[in-house]
Amino acid sequence: MKTLTDLSPSEVRDVFREMRLPSFRSDQILQWIYKTGATSFQEMTNLSKSLREKLTAEWQLDSLREVKRNKAKDGTIKFGFSLHDSHIIESVLIPMETGKQTFCISSQVGCTMGCKFCNTARMGLTRNLTASEIVCQVLHLYREAELSENQAFNVVFMGMGEPLANLDNVLKAIAILTDKNAMNLSRRRITVSTCGIVNGIRRLAREPHPPQLAISLNAADDETRLKIMPITEGNPLSELLDQLKRYPLPPRERFTFEYVLIRDVNDRDEDAANLPRLLNKLRYKINLIPFNPFPGSDFLAPDTARIEAFQQILFKKNVTATIRKSKGQDIQGACGQLAASLGTELE
Ligand code: SF4
Repeated sequence: MKTLTDLSPSEVRDVFREMRLPSFRSDQILQWIYKTGATSFQEMTNLSKSLREKLTAEWQLDSLREVKRNKAKDGTIKFGFSLHDSHIIESVLIPMETGKQTFCISSQVGCTMGCKFCNTARMGLTRNLTASEIVCQVLHLYREAELSENQAFNVVFMGMGEPLANLDNVLKAIAILTDKNAMNLSRRRITVSTCGIVNGIRRLAREPHPPQLAISLNAADDETRLKIMPITEGNPLSELLDQLKRYPLPPRERFTFEYVLIRDVNDRDEDAANLPRLLNKLRYKINLIPFNPFPGSDFLAPDTARIEAFQQILFKKNVTATIRKSKGQDIQGACGQLAASLGTELE
């Protein structure tokens, strides 16, 4: 069956035009889906019964089925969603101290990038998500968060998968989320996190309204980075930084560099001291993320004193560096811990 949430608002209008329906009908339906949060045509009470039945027979709205949820002590909720082919993805609803909510969503079933500190890497890649499967994660979390229409929320592509390896569908989903006739989300509220695929960043830079960019850096030299991130092989730091220098970063915005701190791997004083030298000439902040253990992982997080010492070295060089307080650790919902704990397919 065709999926309406795979279409941009202008494509939805085209579909309804072909069905010889007036344009206000498509506006009504978009309103129901993206503003009211309707999950079926039957809820759309300002459509005639016959139109609702016709649409129900031909189109589906939701491409996800919730199959699991775990709530952490800190209020973070991790959802497991089943896709039409029974594969499972995970998304996380994170209440922030600021009162805002962050929706951490997936872009692929699994991931092929192989970062050693990430549980998703162990799954390998099954497939890319469609635009609808990305958009519907946001819609599900939006309904769960029970936000009022004007209440802001953030969307971060930091769940399962490398978004720049599924860029067509990620860009289409972002176009739907930011369209004023759909979710009307500001591009500044969307962050795409990448392990540093240079070609993908180059393509993103050509977008008229690129989202915020976060780069999973994790080392200040290629040698250390290669030990934990195989992607470094074809995407050396020199090329990555060269591309970032050309990125059309709007005034007052800056890159976020994520740095997963792993004991005895990348947590030395000299690693911290090398970062400002490497990132010189960029506007940026650094998110320090103490490694989040997962079953079978070989790494450990540094102790608190080491983490704070690392941060102090950055402070002395006037670098904005925050230590990310991990959310949802007790439900394996923190950074790098997502791995569709149900298995990739429903039994
Ligand atoms: S950290 Fe991101 S890019 Fe690396 S393996 Fe995990 S999901 Fe893939």
